[in-house]
Amino acid sequence: MNQVSERLLKMLHQRSSRLQDGEPISPPLVSVAKYRLDPEPGTPFSYGREANPTVMEVEATIGALEGAVCVAFPSGMAAITGALMACAKQGDRILVPSDGYYTIRLLLEAFLAEIGLDIVTRPTAEYATIDFAGFDLIWIETPSNPVLDVCDIAVISARARAAGAKTVVDNTSATPLLQQPLDLGADMSVCSDTKAMSGHADLLFGHVASRDEDLLAKAKSWRKLSGSVAGPFEAFLVHRGLMTLEVRLERMCRTAARLADLFAQSNKVEQVRYPGLSGDPSYLLAQKQMAKPGFVIGLFFSSEAVAERFIDECALIFPSTSFGGVHTSAERRARWGDDVPPGFVRLSVGCEPEELLIAAVADTLDAL
Ligand SMILES: *Cc1c(COP(=O)(O)O)cnc(C)c1O
Repeated sequence: MNQVSERLLKMLHQRSSRLQDGEPISPPLVSVAKYRLDPEPGTPFSYGREANPTVMEVEATIGALEGAVCVAFPSGMAAITGALMACAKQGDRILVPSDGYYTIRLLLEAFLAEIGLDIVTRPTAEYATIDFAGFDLIWIETPSNPVLDVCDIAVISARARAAGAKTVVDNTSATPLLQQPLDLGADMSVCSDTKAMSGHADLLFGHVASRDEDLLAKAKSWRKLSGSVAGPFEAFLVHRGLMTLEVRLERMCRTAARLADLFAQSNKVEQVRYPGLSGDPSYLLAQKQMAKPGFVIGLFFSSEAVAERFIDECALIFPSTSFGGVHTSAERRARWGDDVPPGFVRLSVGCEPEELLIAAVADTLDAL
């Protein structure tokens, strides 16, 4: 955690510490397609698809937290596509979690299988025992979204490397503040910054981070050639959100731990998944590789009707998809086709006053 604190500090000060007198502390929002050209090619600033100063500012900010080079994309899925294009080639065999973010599987199955990738899906909890021989890329999502199973990034990355495969970690549910996949040996880390990184549910954004020059060059080249370019206004807002990342997550994780205890004690919830509960299957690995067990809780209610009542009747829960925002929110994941029972709810704990939120949830549970 000390190293992460240092990276956090670097992230907060990466802009302010290098400013001259009179320069603004917030990054200038530069909306531009073309720049005045040098007579000699050399400046990265020639055309907006290649480089934008506001986007580069947020890349430097996220890069400080990752301890790596960051390449920004206009959404988490655009970053995931960039990571796949950087790491995979025709004929490659890819392992992806069957219990992870469903859109990744849809993308792989609908498009990339068609052009010659061999996709194998397995649950995150089985990654520990899968033989990686014959695989070229191991796609990891931990904690997995939505059921929050955890796998050992260090062990899996080392085994993958020994088998000649690369590893990419989708770090969206933890964020690089709570979990640092590159330190644990992953080749690339990807994150949907739409979620907790920007934190206000008012934009889409994503990034990849790596310490491997070749992979970074490929990701940048893919971005430039495909035109998957993040906008400066979104970059500006992500930068702003990042300045409060740690205080938001501090509150969200602390309240989540207390709510998880409350759910675990309630007879209205059949099963609770939270990597910070000592009886949870994810507990030991989460203790080992995460700074905190996060702000998302999985709740198994007895039926769809009870789950819907829980969401509707708690005035402090905003019914919506997505997670990591300042508002506590929840949804039934079966509606999206996740492989979970109809009564399964993913709860994302927000920044509301802790005591009021806990009291509101406790009252709702009592009334169910
Ligand atoms: C939301 C999410 C994504 C996709 O991000 P977008 O910004 O919506 O494109 C990818 N992975 C995980 C784990 C997510 O939760």
